[in-house]
Amino acid sequence: MPRRRDSGAPRVVCRTARVGLRLTRAQRQRCFGLLRAAGDLWACVLEYNSWRHRRQDRPVAGYQELCRLLAASGPGTFGELDSTGARSVLRRYSDAWFSAAARRRAGHGEVRYPRRRRSLMPVRWYHGTFGLSERRLRLPTSLGSPPLVVRLDRAVPYPRDAVRSVTLVFDQGRLWVEVTAELPVATYAAGQEPQRGRVAGVDLGIIHPYAVAAGDGQMLLVSGRAIRTEHRQHLADTKGRRRATAARAPKRGQRGSRRWRKTRRRARLMEGRHRRRVRQAGHEAAKTVIDWAVQHRVGTLTVGDPRGVLDLPAGRRHNLRLRQWQLGRAIAVLKDKAELAGITVYLVDERGTSSTCPVCQRRVVKPRGRTMMCRSCGFVGHRDVAAAFTIATRTPGGVTTTAPDMGAVITHRRAGRHLPGAGLSRRDPRRPPAVSGSVGRLRPAPLPVGSRSLRQRLGEEPQHHRQPGER
Ligand SMILES: [Zn+2]
Repeated sequence: MPRRRDSGAPRVVCRTARVGLRLTRAQRQRCFGLLRAAGDLWACVLEYNSWRHRRQDRPVAGYQELCRLLAASGPGTFGELDSTGARSVLRRYSDAWFSAAARRRAGHGEVRYPRRRRSLMPVRWYHGTFGLSERRLRLPTSLGSPPLVVRLDRAVPYPRDAVRSVTLVFDQGRLWVEVTAELPVATYAAGQEPQRGRVAGVDLGIIHPYAVAAGDGQMLLVSGRAIRTEHRQHLADTKGRRRATAARAPKRGQRGSRRWRKTRRRARLMEGRHRRRVRQAGHEAAKTVIDWAVQHRVGTLTVGDPRGVLDLPAGRRHNLRLRQWQLGRAIAVLKDKAELAGITVYLVDERGTSSTCPVCQRRVVKPRGRTMMCRSCGFVGHRDVAAAFTIATRTPGGVTTTAPDMGAVITHRRAGRHLPGAGLSRRDPRRPPAVSGSVGRLRPAPLPVGSRSLRQRLGEEPQHHRQPGER
């Protein structure tokens, strides 16, 4: 539920970041205790309302009514969960119930009221109830229980006084806190602000997540090859792991062993890490585009939408489906960052842009490689950038663009600097250091094979071969 704001206040947007936790065993257990207690509370509300339903009573769904029931149940009913945390669960239930009711009234009879129990339920605490310092977070707990202070694995990426709420969640096999902050839309010094009249077209793709061309001839290409490599390496790793662990898999009808559970957990963690890497790279790619746009004072980004869907609300379900699609994500991430930077984003149909010459607007043979060649006017240029030029001309309201000068410099940027092998950032833990060609990279030179004395001097244990009779 959004807060009320003064009409004259500066525009703000809400952004959420996920931060991992560094926990001791006892802290982990207490965190799980909180999530489990929240799950119990959720189940309790479901149970209570199903009783009432059977007795043909009116269900209790109003937030304040539920809060009164919670207060009546007395302290300590839900373990260490304090009343603010518990109320966040009630708020979640109430919101879900009323949105279902509204949709049912609107004729969607298939929408159901909340009815599913969950063993772990996210708990949210709003501003003023938790304590946040550099890398420490104090979560409120019920009266009489010791304070719960957890360590964060990175600094919260927002100014401390902008943070509005924290949510404890369990996802991808790990505990996290989601930190939500209210950030003001960027303001610029006079003469630095993006201008609405300056338009750039954005072409979305896989090899190049974003190809951008401004109306005045500036161009940017963001490469996504590192992301594709990550996808492929992950696939290869997954296959290898499957092959290696297949023998341990329980047979049909057989109960899984503890060892198998560990294997499954490991696979889940790897899957989560892969997803986080790709997600991070997507954010970096979008940030590159926005930084570039701000630098060139581009105030309008026109994005070619390959789904042929215009910026029409497609209903909640379809919107959700679109958002879950990776391509939809690329658009959503760009939109979010543009909003924060004060840049307008339009979505236009991109049909035909990759086979239209940006100079003479005639159809060209759909290019096979990365280069577009026009037989009529002799234009030669990068396919995706050429498409971005044509997309820019489709900006609603019409814009004047200069003809692209493909001799001009294209800014090349790479998404996913953190990905293995993509830069100086981090060595791929899965691969040994490169033997040669690592000029300019901050990598230790590999030890020559057989230099055992050197290895020993570096403190590595020499390989110990077991003798036949030895135990
Ligand atoms: Zn042409």
